[in-house]
Amino acid sequence: MSNYTKILIAIDLSEESLNVVRRGCAMAAEKEAELHLIHVIEPLSFAYGGDIPMDFSGIQEEISEQAREQLKQVGLEYGVGESNQHTVFGRPEVEIHQMAETLGADLIVVGSHGRYGLALLMGSTANGVLHGASCDVLAVRVGN
Ligand code: AMP
Repeated sequence: MSNYTKILIAIDLSEESLNVVRRGCAMAAEKEAELHLIHVIEPLSFAYGGDIPMDFSGIQEEISEQAREQLKQVGLEYGVGESNQHTVFGRPEVEIHQMAETLGADLIVVGSHGRYGLALLMGSTANGVLHGASCDVLAVRVGN
């Protein structure tokens, strides 16, 4: 296996995504790699912008603040410093690719649900990250 030097772990801040962090941390410790965490906040306007004539900025700021705080707690627990914690806005797969390139990461770690049927056809973040990534991607099985 390659000697990874910079690992980017993508987390959605769910309970199960801590398994992804644990796996990424174990990998980083084994390879003595630098570790980064990313959480992507999908702007509310992506989902509701055209339909609801409303100013989302207050709620959005609150969501971002909570996400940053949660990521900070994860970072504290797993020894990832604040400069290596990244909270960004956009589409998860796009931003994860972008961050991996900006950092020069050689491995992205994501969680993957065992999807089937319609859910599989609709795709997943893990699939989106895998397709088009310019480095290796480790999909850690999460959920059922
Ligand atoms: P999903 O396909 O949405 O169930 O997500 C599977 C995995 O994709 C999660 O375990 C994370 O590794 C990653 N992921 C999903 N959403 C986000 C997000 N908003 N920010 C960062 N990573 C995410």
